[in-house]
Amino acid sequence: MSVEARTHTALHVLKGAVVRVLGAEWTAGVSVDGSHGRLTVQFDRKPTEEELAEIEELANLKIREDAPVEELELDRAEAEGRWGDAIYDLFPLPASITRLRVFHLPGWNVNACNKEHTSSTGEIGSLKIAKARFRAGKGLLEISYDVHPG
Ligand SMILES: [Zn+2]
Repeated sequence: MSVEARTHTALHVLKGAVVRVLGAEWTAGVSVDGSHGRLTVQFDRKPTEEELAEIEELANLKIREDAPVEELELDRAEAEGRWGDAIYDLFPLPASITRLRVFHLPGWNVNACNKEHTSSTGEIGSLKIAKARFRAGKGLLEISYDVHPG
């Protein structure tokens, strides 16, 4: 399993934790570079150190649970019927796309995504938040992290 797949899958796990702790549901951007990743969500303030620690802890609990990752391919209408807007990020997919690949970590995160994922969360290893940057002017929160083996 490539480090990029581990770092990318960690984005989904981290997002689930961010939704739980901060209620920030809309992803504005993601990036992966080797073992380093960054998740950007729409948010209205800088999170506290306690909130960031809780996000990191929840994400690592989900990783240690070694939960199975589901990758589905289905009609867009069917995916919307099942999960609604939860499968989308801030910027909509073109209407011309009618089939979706969907990443599903039951009870944690669902997202239209055609990237490569690990088959379970345990393969990620562990995740450490490096920094959080709140861009007040844009209403965006960037959370940078690194994944480590084991
Ligand atoms: Zn993905």
